[in-house]
Formats: sequence, C-alpha cells, structure tokens
Amino acid sequence: MDARGDHALVLFSGGQDSTITLAWALARYREVETVGFRYGQRHAVELECRPRLREKLAAMAFPGRLGEDHLIDLGPAMAAVGETALTSDAAIALGADGLPSTFVPGRNLLFLTLAAAIAHRRDLRRVIGGMCETDYSGYPDCRDDTIKAMQIALNLGMARRFVLETPLMWLSKAESWRLARDLGGEALVALIVEETHTCYLGERGARHDWGYGCGTCPACALREAGYREFRAA
Ligand code: ZN
Repeated sequence: MDARGDHALVLFSGGQDSTITLAWALARYREVETVGFRYGQRHAVELECRPRLREKLAAMAFPGRLGEDHLIDLGPAMAAVGETALTSDAAIALGADGLPSTFVPGRNLLFLTLAAAIAHRRDLRRVIGGMCETDYSGYPDCRDDTIKAMQIALNLGMARRFVLETPLMWLSKAESWRLARDLGGEALVALIVEETHTCYLGERGARHDWGYGCGTCPACALREAGYREFRAA
C-alpha cells in the first residue's frame, strides 16, 4: 500500500543541516512532520533549539504545512551500547580505524529505522534527512549508498514504498547555505545562524558571524569554513 505521497517526515535535530532540510521539505510537501532523537548527546542543547526553530520556520514562509513533532528518547539504549566522544567526555579525535571518535556506530541506521516506523504509523511516504556525503566527517552512515540500502531494507521489511530523500547529499556546506537563501532568503539564513546548533561540545557562549559554538571543534570548523565560502562567493 502506498502512503500519502505529499506527506513527509523530516529527521530534525535542530542543527544547521536538518533545519535546511526541513525548510526544503516545507517548500515541497503539503504536510511535514518532524522527528528528533535524544541519545545522550553531549550537544543536547540542539534539542532545545528544535521547538523555536519549528515555530519560526512555520511562521516564516510555509504556513499550515508543519505537522506534529515526535521526540524519541534513546538515552538508556545508546548508553548501553557504548561510549563515544559525542555521548561522553572522551576526546574528539580520529581513531585507528580512521573514524572520528564522535562516530556513534549505526546511529543513522537506527534513526532511519525508527523514522520509517513512525512514517508507517502516520501514513507518510517520504522520510527526509540532512545526511551529506560531501564535506562529511567520515561517517559511513551518511553515505548515499547507505541511505539507498536502507530504503530497500525498510521497504522490504515494512512492506511499504517509502522514499528516503537527502537533499543535501551532494552539496558542500557553502552550497547548503545557498540553498537556504534560495528557499527563504536572508531571513532564513539569519534564522539558521541565530537558532541552529552545530558545536559538538554543546557550547553556545560565543556568537560568531556564522553562529554560536566553541569555534574549534570539527563541527564548528566545518560550519565556519562553509559560511565563509558562502559569503565570499
Ligand atoms: Zn564547537
């Protein structure tokens, strides 16, 4: 059975990429629900950004399209399967396997599976995430092939025709800022700068022209470089 094709569920963390992804979905689909996950992340502050961002995005450009929000708590489950630098005070560094210590094994696989389960229940056809293979921090579960394989697995396992969409997959960070400006003008760029969270350390003390953050962790460095390139173009 086919779910409602113009209804979507966006994986929405409150970060820069997922906010641009949500704006993209709101511009295209009639109704868009959101899902977020609490998994003991060090930057849990991003979850606090979610309601404000949802409210402002809905008011800004796409009235009447933003539907329900689902917040799923995976804290104890994720804690039980191991510590990483994203979920503990361990240092953020590259491991011997070439993966950053912020890698939470299987995180996006788990998120996509749970999102598809919600989409199944809510009769939504499109499951949309901000995963990105360009500029990515070495996370194998952000790769296009991973997402495509998940689409097949989920469709087989849930007997549906979900479409997994990743509008940022092949964009650089500068290009994703440009996409934000195309979708919502400077007002959307300003909203992302002001209200989204990217810093792995969860710091929101210092305000830079690209937003809040420690300014030195890999997530801040990537966000700053992308913003500079976007403004320089
Ligand atoms: Zn940072």
